[in-house]
Amino acid sequence: MANHALDNAARILGQARCTIAFTGAGISVESGIPPFRGPGGVWSKYDPAMFEKAYFKQHPQEVWPLLKTIFYDTLARARPNPAHYALADLEAAGRLAGVITQNIDGLHQAAGSRTVHEYHGSTRRMQCLACRAFFDSASISLERLPPPCPACGGTLKPDFIFFSEPIPFEVHRAATDLAQASDVCLIVGTGGEVMPAGRIPHLVKSAGGTVIEINLYETRYSYGFSDIFLQGKAGTLLPELAEKTLAA
Ligand SMILES: [Zn+2]
Repeated sequence: MANHALDNAARILGQARCTIAFTGAGISVESGIPPFRGPGGVWSKYDPAMFEKAYFKQHPQEVWPLLKTIFYDTLARARPNPAHYALADLEAAGRLAGVITQNIDGLHQAAGSRTVHEYHGSTRRMQCLACRAFFDSASISLERLPPPCPACGGTLKPDFIFFSEPIPFEVHRAATDLAQASDVCLIVGTGGEVMPAGRIPHLVKSAGGTVIEINLYETRYSYGFSDIFLQGKAGTLLPELAEKTLAA
């Protein structure tokens, strides 16, 4: 049964004109990154008000130790898993136009994916709130918190979306354009609960495209929206799907 669905999905990917992957926290769980939402998720342990941009600007000395613990200490240990590599393989073989991810962990790029639209930003960059300059996070020491801007001494903020911050126009535009140009959307590790990102697969579907979903649990996409729902671990199913697609 599952194999039949997997064969079908491989056939669709093999015949697609333009495929995008839409990914979320579920693809990085097998890399040791805890999910942020849901019971036991990171956000259930902290007051979300701390991660409002306005609060951060006024209390960087209070919020930065949390940012370091939640994001930078965890990410320093995280490595891409077979699901990330499978997407990079599909792209390298010309079977995937790009990845639109809600993740901020940089693991798609670490696995070798080239076209990656980071819808919610990235931990890999920081921006100075004073002079607006961007820096590679790897070049910023977190020994002293908050880390000062190397250019002007101002407060650095990770370049990912805080609560109630809008999606940057450029990435929204690029992701939307790519989705609208695609005829297949491969959803991996997300139920699309976060808007407006969660509407990306709808852009493909409403233009007549096909949606293939890989998730460990049923989501609101799974029945009635996704054309094929492959239930299981992304780190297992995605490499199998990529192998079948590329062998055809
Ligand atoms: Zn600065």
